[in-house]
Amino acid sequence: MDRNWAGNVTYRATAIHYPRSLAELRERVANAVRIRAVGTRHAFNELANTGGELVDLGRMPRLVEIDEQARQVRVSAGLRYAEFTEDLDARGFALPTLASLPHISVAGATATATHGSGSGNGSLSTSVAGLEVVNADGDVVTIGRGDADFDGAVVHLGALGVVTSLTLDLVPAFQIRQYVHEGLPLDSDILGVLDGAYSVSLFTDWSSDTINQVWVKQRADDPEFVPQATTRADGPRHPVPGMATQNCTQQLGIPGRSADRLPHFRPEFTPSAGAELQTEFMVARSDAVAALHAVDAIRDRVHPVLQISEIRAVKADRLWLSPYYARDTVCIHFTWIADAAAVMPVVDLVGERLAEFGARRTGRRFSPQRRKSCGRGTRGCRTSRI
Ligand SMILES: Cc1cc2nc3c(=O)[nH]c(=O)nc-3n(C[C@H](O)[C@H](O)[C@H](O)COP(=O)(O)OP(=O)(O)OC[C@H]3O[C@@H](n4cnc5c(N)ncnc54)[C@H](O)[C@@H]3O)c2cc1C
Repeated sequence: MDRNWAGNVTYRATAIHYPRSLAELRERVANAVRIRAVGTRHAFNELANTGGELVDLGRMPRLVEIDEQARQVRVSAGLRYAEFTEDLDARGFALPTLASLPHISVAGATATATHGSGSGNGSLSTSVAGLEVVNADGDVVTIGRGDADFDGAVVHLGALGVVTSLTLDLVPAFQIRQYVHEGLPLDSDILGVLDGAYSVSLFTDWSSDTINQVWVKQRADDPEFVPQATTRADGPRHPVPGMATQNCTQQLGIPGRSADRLPHFRPEFTPSAGAELQTEFMVARSDAVAALHAVDAIRDRVHPVLQISEIRAVKADRLWLSPYYARDTVCIHFTWIADAAAVMPVVDLVGERLAEFGARRTGRRFSPQRRKSCGRGTRGCRTSRI
């Protein structure tokens, strides 16, 4: 029985194939009636759960091909970010942004517009400059920036074919210092704080009108940004109360390569809480403050079923299926307790309150029965990012 990371999706696939070569993959795809790719299985939805065959590229040959002139890297689709960022660093390059965890595959992350934080940073998908895809006939096709409909192909939700490699834009390697500050009043200049450093995340449990933690990831050579009225944490912190801080990337302002600071979680440890449900809503930056106050107005309903909420900024893009399409965005994320029956009414309530802000919310609802049956806790309802 193969499940996603959270255990809330059990794949109904008739077979899961692990091809070891492009030729083998092409043959599998050409001969299949219905086939879909799966990456590192961290998505919460059932998009890859078609009941046909599945193909996992994790055993395909590793490809990391850096073109210094073009400032690009071509990587095999099944690689996890943690598996090639060191190669980039060794050649003086980096990716501009990363998600909270480096455990996910490049193909899966970019197919779903995975994001980190930073008012000046687009999603991980905006780094994609080209794709190599095996189509339904088993033929290899490539599509690159500038080709017709490229903007419709990058965030493809697995529906384009099986992506075998991706070309990503690079930036010169850079160092980051990470500080955690505590006690930011919700009435502060929230957008100013999100803009205050290269990448900023706000974490709150909505127990009061004070945001618990501000994670500031600033470029090592930038002047230190201290959000007003906050206190700098006196030791390492985990965003989820009670979780081990060793799971988190280095804090306390010690500089390090960007790939070791931009994610919150270290690759060798479990990210986040593990036993949880998740929801995320994306609102336009211009609506963000009002949207946060709308959540604050129902915090007595939110807090009892919540582990932690994260607020991040993402720059607008032009990718057709992206939740940040044509609008600078603030993402309001909820990591709930693993009790779907208690959580779902609150998810609905938050959705109702954020509807007036045009919150982008897509994806599946999951049934309480299925979530209860999940062994290691559940996650799901990534409502904003299918
Ligand atoms: C603990 C945790 C923390 C997270 N943090 C963040 C975060 O900070 N920011 C954020 O935006 N998201 C976050 N996510 C969500 C995660 O980034 C997305 O779910 C992402 O899609 C996971 O990538 P994956 O490789 O595991 O994808 P999978 O779940 O394996 O697949 C996702 C989709 O991609 C398609 N796909 C995968 N590989 C291929 C391929 N080779 N060819 C064609 N299609 C393919 C699949 O068909 C499917 O539709 C988090 C998830 C978890 C569990």
